[in-house]
Amino acid sequence: MNLHEYQAKGILSSFGVPIQRGYMATTVDEAVENAKKLINETGTKFIIVKAQIHAGGRGKGGGVKLAKNLEEVREHASNILGMMLITPQTPGGLKGKGKLVSKILIAEDVYVPEYDQCKEFYISILMDRQKRMNAIIYSTEGGMNIEDVAEKTPHLVHKEHIDPALGLQEFQARKIAFNLGLSGAAFKNMYKFIKSLYKAYTSSDASLIEINPVIKTGDDRIIAVDAKVSIEDNSLYRHPDYAAMRDESEEDPTEVEAKKVDLNYVKLDGNVGCMVNGAGLAMATMDLIKQSGGSPANFLDVGGTADAERVEKGFRIILSDPNVKAILVNIFGGIVRADRVAQGVIDAYNNIGEIKVPIIVRLRGTNAEEARELIEKSGLKVHYAVEFQEAADLISQVLS
Ligand code: GDP
Ligand code: MN
Repeated sequence: MNLHEYQAKGILSSFGVPIQRGYMATTVDEAVENAKKLINETGTKFIIVKAQIHAGGRGKGGGVKLAKNLEEVREHASNILGMMLITPQTPGGLKGKGKLVSKILIAEDVYVPEYDQCKEFYISILMDRQKRMNAIIYSTEGGMNIEDVAEKTPHLVHKEHIDPALGLQEFQARKIAFNLGLSGAAFKNMYKFIKSLYKAYTSSDASLIEINPVIKTGDDRIIAVDAKVSIEDNSLYRHPDYAAMRDESEEDPTEVEAKKVDLNYVKLDGNVGCMVNGAGLAMATMDLIKQSGGSPANFLDVGGTADAERVEKGFRIILSDPNVKAILVNIFGGIVRADRVAQGVIDAYNNIGEIKVPIIVRLRGTNAEEARELIEKSGLKVHYAVEFQEAADLISQVLS
């Protein structure tokens, strides 16, 4: 689950990571009120107005602005709230429509006492599956796109592996601060920063923490200016407070709908919708669709209880995608009985009303014969396949 910058900073701060302080706002008036509050509490001279969307590169797209007074806070807030912010990371990239900004973060200016005296770094923590360890990636080249830095100047991107059983060792935190070229108070503060950040990573069950930039201020403080945090979905049951931070408006609406009824659905951009039980069969089915000249419109695993209600819900979700030209139902009756799935398909068909796209049903396993009879007797315009190849041929047929 991805979080907004303001939420990510809240979590980091709760583990002692120094952050650029700020308040989230959804209206222009609230933005100005927050700015006043922030000036009172922090004494900040300037205010940074930052668009809150689940995408980076906001600064270059006009989503991060410095305000020198409350008038400018008002001006930037009214420009940014409601804008379609386009960055390389919003859907469709720089050629896309961008993302609607409905929240902004009103933050203190941390580039003090002078902008020129500050130094920007890059620090992230993630899991390195190959090494079976956590990894801290860091660089002196902060504030820029790290992929570009890695490509042009790979020697400036460092990686420190951390054995999850041993945790971050003192010498490792020191080595990172040293490699970042720090000394004195800045070194000490960076060392503390790394330790708190790693603590935040493990304790919050994050799958990624990325801070770009981390800055060293002119008076040697180390502060997270930006924050991207992703929490591992499978851990959310033990973090109800984080689970409540989910912003569904940032997610694909059909995926949100599917999650509510516990269907494992991922939208893709092909033309053949598929409904399958089991992730393995789902993958094989997507290959089959590709080989038949189509391309999968989605991944949908209805799971072990493919009853009428879930099948109907699945159909409705698949049909909400206008690109779908055919639907393939490929279910193996192991725990679930094939005749019950067949009944589910029939009920769903009748409940939804006329389904205009051709449906190909392949049911194997327990009670497959009964399933076939049910479908055939129903009189529905459903193609029935027994073998995998038959299903493939039917797809080619209905698509041509
Ligand atoms: P991103 O563009 O989505 O990665 O958003 P960031 O939070 O990284 O901010 C973009 C840029 O805005 C930073 O690289 C800084 O140059 C600038 N910025 C952010 N916070 C401050 C601040 O407190 N003071 C000043 N002067 N600039 C800031
Ligand atoms: Mn950034």
